[in-house]
Amino acid sequence: MRNRVRCLIIGSGPAGYTAAIYASRANLEPVLYEGMEPGGQLTITTDVENFPGYPDGITGTELMEDLKKQAQRFGTEVRSGRATAVDFSVRPLKVVIDDEYAVEADSVIISTGACAKYLGLADETKYAGQGVSACATCDGFFYRRKTVAVVGGGDTACEEASYLAGLAEKVYMIVRKPQLRASKIMQERVLNNPKIEVFFEHNATGLFGENGVEGVHLVKWMGEPDEERYDLPIDGFFLAIGHTPNTGIFKDFLNLDQVGYIITEHPTTKTNVEGVFACGDVADPIYRQAITAAGTGCRAAVDAERYLMEKGL
Ligand code: NDP
Repeated sequence: MRNRVRCLIIGSGPAGYTAAIYASRANLEPVLYEGMEPGGQLTITTDVENFPGYPDGITGTELMEDLKKQAQRFGTEVRSGRATAVDFSVRPLKVVIDDEYAVEADSVIISTGACAKYLGLADETKYAGQGVSACATCDGFFYRRKTVAVVGGGDTACEEASYLAGLAEKVYMIVRKPQLRASKIMQERVLNNPKIEVFFEHNATGLFGENGVEGVHLVKWMGEPDEERYDLPIDGFFLAIGHTPNTGIFKDFLNLDQVGYIITEHPTTKTNVEGVFACGDVADPIYRQAITAAGTGCRAAVDAERYLMEKGL
């Protein structure tokens, strides 16, 4: 096994595979580590209907299989394994895999993605892909003229609720505090939308339904003496309580923002460490779409290629 490479790609979502397609076509002979969730977040969604080029839609799993094949066709070596530590203070750069061995690389492309936060209810797993979603842009279309609930009170929740209100019959927002955390303009947008009803001081404690989600168990004023428990019929349950970028192992070397996203030198994918580039959701708190991730993956490979050429590596 080659453990000294010119271009090492960490992560196998749309960003990682697009970087791999470009890097392998540029003869960088990249090695890509798939990570904990091969294929990334798309493999936990159902149909992908907004990725250009698929007029009839495609399942997330198929799309990722195709991207993988395309990367391999040009010589990307795809390996299973997870980056568990890095040392970006040395040259070549060092990445430890599965706590077991190290790979040395002249350039590293980070595409480790982000994970949507979930409440931690067993029912979220039970109904995954059957009414539970953490991405309104991806799955909202399936809820046209239906009733959905969005959990969260931040900008993402307000944005998702507004987006869903354009499709669904009715949107409930389940907010645990007596107020929204979102910016004023986003708050006004949801509060003035006749299709959106905000349930303040509510918590969701479970879901029910025979064939997919048919309703949510709610608790109003949880833990208070006048606590109220009741069920609300819904067809879709959307989580919008934030995302966690997968950047734990990089924090000692890379500049991260307050939430933990990698800061890149816009409009490039350069990080503060020469030869290390970041693309996809790990560096994107705003768009978080498969197509935007793929776009930045392309940029990262081009940036890596130019870097290697300039350095004569
Ligand atoms: P935030 O952290 O801002 O908000 C998370 C929301 O989820 C809060 O209302 C929080 O409640 C709630 N929440 C968290 N955990 C739980 C839980 N266990 N149970 C119930 N509710 C919970 O995350 P966002 O994703 O909304 O935003 C992240 C960042 O991105 C922010 O800085 C935001 O401004 C920015 N953003 C900007 C956008 C724009 O400008 N268009 C669009 C989207 C995001 P509580 O308030 O009680 O903590």
